[in-house]
Order: sequence, then C-alpha cells, then structure tokens
Amino acid sequence: MLKKDPKVLFNGAALPTENDAKRSKAILIVAPLAALVHLLLIPFFFFAGIDILAWVNVGSVLIWGVGLWLSCHDKVNLSIQIFAVEILAHSLLVCYFLGSAPGFQYYLWAIAALCVMDTSASLLRVCVTSFTLILIFAVLNAGFFEPLYPFPFPEYLLYMNLANILVAGVISTLAIIIMRNFHLSRERVLKKQAARDSLTGLYNRREGLLLLEQSCLNAARNNEPLSVVMADVDYFKQINDCFGHSVGDDVLCQIADQLADSIRRSDIAIRWGGEEFLILFPAASMAAVQEILNATRLHFAKSDLIESLLGKPVTLSFGIAQMLPGESIQQVIARADEALYSSKKMGRDQITIAKNRQVDSSVTSDDR
Ligand code: GH3
Ligand code: MG
Ligand code: MG
Repeated sequence: MLKKDPKVLFNGAALPTENDAKRSKAILIVAPLAALVHLLLIPFFFFAGIDILAWVNVGSVLIWGVGLWLSCHDKVNLSIQIFAVEILAHSLLVCYFLGSAPGFQYYLWAIAALCVMDTSASLLRVCVTSFTLILIFAVLNAGFFEPLYPFPFPEYLLYMNLANILVAGVISTLAIIIMRNFHLSRERVLKKQAARDSLTGLYNRREGLLLLEQSCLNAARNNEPLSVVMADVDYFKQINDCFGHSVGDDVLCQIADQLADSIRRSDIAIRWGGEEFLILFPAASMAAVQEILNATRLHFAKSDLIESLLGKPVTLSFGIAQMLPGESIQQVIARADEALYSSKKMGRDQITIAKNRQVDSSVTSDDR
C-alpha cells in the first residue's frame, strides 16, 4: 500500500538544515581531533625550542574550540571558514619556520576541499580560493625557501611528513564524502517529492501514469488481473462552498489517508486530480476489489476523522474497470470513468463495475 510519506512533504528549508546537520556532525568529530593534534604540538615545539610555533598552536587550539562552538550554534559555514583560515595560517607559518619537509603544506589540499563544502560561497569564490590554495601548495612544496629552523628531530622527519599527508588526506576525503552523501540524499528526497502530490502525499498523476504503465506490463507478463478504480468525492464542492477551501483541503487529506489505509500493500493510490483518486489493484480478483472498496465505503461512513460536515457523512463514488487483453491505458481509464459516472447517476456512494466485452455493468447494492 502506498501511503503518504510525511518526509517528502517538507518545506524548502528542510534541505539546507539536513545538510547543516550532517556537516555539524562531521565537525563534532573532526574539530576535537584537530584541537588535540594542536595541543600535542604545543609541548613538542616548546621542547624543540621553537616557542613561536608553540604559541601558534595555542592559538590553533582556541580557534578550533571557537569553530566547534559556532558549528553547534547553527553557524556551520562560518565555522568552516574559520577552520580554513586556521589551517591556512598554521600551514604557512610552519612551512615558513620549518620548510616543506615535514609536509604541513598538504593541509592546503584539505582546505581546498573544505572550501567546496562552504555552500554559502559562490562558485567563483570557491574556484578562485581552491586554485589559489593549490598554487600556494605547489610553491611551498617545490622547496624554494630555506627553513628558518632545522627540523628538531630529523630522524622522525619522514614520519611527520607521512602523518601530515595521511591526516590532510583524511580531512579532504571526509569533506568529499559529506558532500557526496548530501547530494545523494537530496536527490532521493527530490525524486520522492516529484512523485507525490504535495497536498495529500499520494502519488501524483504523472507518477501514477508511469505506475499504471508498469502495472499493466506486470499484469500482462504474469497473466494476472489488474483492476483500475476511479473514485470521486461526492458533493465536494458543497464542502468548499460552506466551509472554505482550507477545510476542503483538510477533508481531502483525511480521505487520502483513509484510502491509503484501506488498500493492500501492493495496491497503489494516486491523486488523479481535484477530488478524484485512481487506485490500482494488481493481482486482485474483481470480488476482492469490490470487498476492499465496500469496506472502504463503510469505513468512511463510520469514520470519526471525516466529520459529517454537511449533516451527513462525506462519501465517495467508485468505478471499477478490469484491464482487458490488448486494452490501452486510456481505454481502461475511460471505462473506469464511465463506471464512476454511472455511480454518480445512480445516486452516488456507489460502486459500479465497468462494462467490458463479456460482462454488462452491474451496481452493487448498498449494504450499509
Ligand atoms: P459530484 O458529487 O458530482 O462529484 O460533485 P462535486 O461537488 O464533488 O463535484 P464538482 O466537480 O462540481 O466539484 C469538485 C470541486 O472540488 C470543485 C473544486 O473547487 C474542488 N477542488 C478541486 N481540487 C481541490 C483542492 O485541491 N482543494 C479543495 N479544497 N477543493 C478542490
Ligand atoms: Mg466530486
Ligand atoms: Mg470530480
């Protein structure tokens, strides 16, 4: 059964919030780790006698803390910008004092990836910043400048270089994974949204036609019956006229919910237009479809959800057409429509089986 999925009925603000939440979660993991690395570098540089770099790392710890705080307070883009500036300043300063051999210039690659994550920046700004960072990396990496200090523990220089490449690589990869996941989940949400009617959450007419085509193919391939039901709310205009359009909308949503609740998991409910619904019953006998629709009618009569706004229950009329061999989609819909029209003519709140080549139309008795 295809029910309304509240997750697809989001307003426009949901997507950025979801993105921010994901990035904020990543920052919650990365920022404390980065702060810890800088914290460990403080005694390292004091011990090595390069006090200036030790103080730079004190500043770095504070900046990562501030960025983390900002990210937790819904300022994710600002925190990413601050992290980028910190990594840039730290990389440049360490390269200036110790040269490129320890490999701190690799963090410029990581900032380039972080800049791409800043969705508030324009594409031009992202491109210019990223390419500038790569250019600075290339210059630093070429080793044009002599370091001011020799690396304090030359025997560990190679490991420091390796560690920096690995950490910078992890940051870059993480940034790309977050962006990838965000785009994939957004694509999923948009696909769902495009298939649904925004008021009721049922499938919309465009998606309904595709599902009908697919159901017809499946029915023909598996030699199974396929029933197409057209349903229309009776005297719906009166509800709008008496209580206003928004009450009418609310009633439509309640009807859609109840229709979706009444059918089987394999059945498909579509909002065909205004107050009309198309329901597909694959692999169901005519008797089974009638039984489900009768139960649905009785359910509407008893329902306390749809109040009897006009002093009588809100009812629906139905027309059922079973797909015939070689019949087109348009033809079966037209027959279901004709049967619905007969239900209306017979006094509404009825179920009518469409005429086909073998069977004449018949109207079920009102069994309330
Ligand atoms: P019948 O029993 O013959 O079907 O009578 P009816 O009043 O239901 O049919 P009619 O076609 O005269 O009126 C349908 C009304 O449904 C008219 C239109 O304004 C209303 N309608 C269509 N779409 C919506 C919607 O999305 N929201 C609301 N509130 N009303 C809608
Ligand atoms: Mg109607
Ligand atoms: Mg109508």
